[in-house]
Amino acid sequence: MSAKKFIAKFGLFLCLIGIGLFILFLTITQKNDGTHVIVSVNGKDIECFELAKDITYDIDTYGLNRLTIKDGYAWIDTADCPDKLCVNFGKISKSGESIVCLPHKVVIRIESNISDKEGLDAIAK
Ligand SMILES: [Zn+2]
Repeated sequence: MSAKKFIAKFGLFLCLIGIGLFILFLTITQKNDGTHVIVSVNGKDIECFELAKDITYDIDTYGLNRLTIKDGYAWIDTADCPDKLCVNFGKISKSGESIVCLPHKVVIRIESNISDKEGLDAIAK
């Protein structure tokens, strides 16, 4: 085998590995659609909503954060925190995504495949 051919084959081999790694990377990082919205305040889960049900919910433990769930998306519609980062966060819908409001110690996160019973028992007050 000439050196040129060898280099060509080696290059092709590297390309294939690169493509393989790229596909693997996409598979790992691809997020699943969430099914539930978990509301936690000060590190404690206080509410669990289905992402499929449209609701508006006021969280007012340390200040107001109005959570809106509509059309499979969850977002903070209104808040009276000084930075408004939670409002500017936008909409979340994928498992693992979350909205954080540091001043109010509020975390809204999306999860998927929670069995209803398990999720609600864990959150029951
Ligand atoms: Zn906020």
